[in-house]
Amino acid sequence: MTRSREEIILGDRRHVWHPYTPMGDYLSAGDPLVVARAAGSRLYDSDGRNYLDANSAWWTSLLGHNHPRLVQALKDQADRMCHVAFGGITHEPAVLLAERLVRAAPAGLTRVFYSDNGSTAVEVAVKMALQFHAQNGAPERTRLLSLEHAFHGETWAVASLSGVAAFRAGVEFSGPDVVQLPSPGVDEARALLELEKQLTEHGARVAALVVEPLIQGAGGMLMYDPEFLRRARELTEAAGALFIVDEVFTGFGRTGRFWAVDHAGVSPDILCTAKGLSGGVMPFAATLTSERVFEGFLGDRSRALYYGHTYTGNPLGARVAAETLAVYEDEAVLAGIPERAERIRRSFERMGARQGARAPRALGMCAALELGGESDYLADSGWRVSRAARRRGAYLRPLGSVVYIAPPLNISLPDLDELLSIVEESVAAVLGGSE
Ligand SMILES: *Cc1c(COP(=O)(O)O)cnc(C)c1O
Repeated sequence: MTRSREEIILGDRRHVWHPYTPMGDYLSAGDPLVVARAAGSRLYDSDGRNYLDANSAWWTSLLGHNHPRLVQALKDQADRMCHVAFGGITHEPAVLLAERLVRAAPAGLTRVFYSDNGSTAVEVAVKMALQFHAQNGAPERTRLLSLEHAFHGETWAVASLSGVAAFRAGVEFSGPDVVQLPSPGVDEARALLELEKQLTEHGARVAALVVEPLIQGAGGMLMYDPEFLRRARELTEAAGALFIVDEVFTGFGRTGRFWAVDHAGVSPDILCTAKGLSGGVMPFAATLTSERVFEGFLGDRSRALYYGHTYTGNPLGARVAAETLAVYEDEAVLAGIPERAERIRRSFERMGARQGARAPRALGMCAALELGGESDYLADSGWRVSRAARRRGAYLRPLGSVVYIAPPLNISLPDLDELLSIVEESVAAVLGGSE
């Protein structure tokens, strides 16, 4: 490719519409990162500067950018077969990945349904849950429970589960019957109380409870105790409802265990995974479930799960994801987390103690704090920190007033220390008004 940085920016300004970006602000700032290359924990701009990626390419590159083994697996698979329909056809990468996923999964999750991204992973789960009840003697179970501040993606059914007001603005979502429960990341006692009330009083109408386990990501990196998951498991089971965990962000070691539910020692009925699953190399997702749910779709042809996407089971994605799981084992990725997590936690505690900052929190390879009085997705304070960090050599994408980091799990200790000092300096500069 031969275009200069300026030419790329010019073309971008003329024709490209970016996701989750107020385009007016973007166009008037006029100085996007133009990433030419990415490796390990760094992004390389075509102007010769590089940036530590505190965001792991939107939470996907958990093994660092362009992990050589994942790139090699992609190349090998591309030489052989890039894509083939997956309806009633199978191939080795899909089988290999299913076996490895089931081995890594919480007990009892033995069936794997593929799709392309986190939204569809949850969309499948929701359709599965509703149809499962509809054709297995409980058609009155049409209600879905989700949490305030939840984020489960952008397809319609899952967007209607969202508790992030900014993401719902201007659009009337009429979809499934959704009841939102208080978030345990805001008030744990109240959340437990309402969960219990909803499931004991109205549980017979509930198809499923859907949660992001331990960390509500896009809703503001709200963290909560594993106890909520244990209670959720008990109460859904007692009520006859399915328990769906969306591990799209938390899975693959982000929280320090392979799955966030591992901290609670519980198995859900359905688990959704994407993002880290394919190491930031290919869009890919999987929805895992139990034999019980799977068997609810057997029998008469009309009982099948008529669901899928054109690229379901894509061999490139499946091969890369299977390799991703092998790298976790071969490189003992989780064993490196406690030391890194401790540095992250201490750093956020120091920042959280500053005047103007509050609510520092950390779990595994994720930490957050808030600037100003109230958490606000449309606030500029986090973006000020982000601009200050960029000048110092780190890419940090805030959630409004929430500043967080979610770096690759295997970030080197020197890179991590550098990242943390950049974040600390940037937060100090913004709070001290000396950006
Ligand atoms: C990102 C995310 C999704 C959506 O994933 P996409 O790949 O962007 O569709 C769903 N759930 C959670 C918890 C996420 O963090």
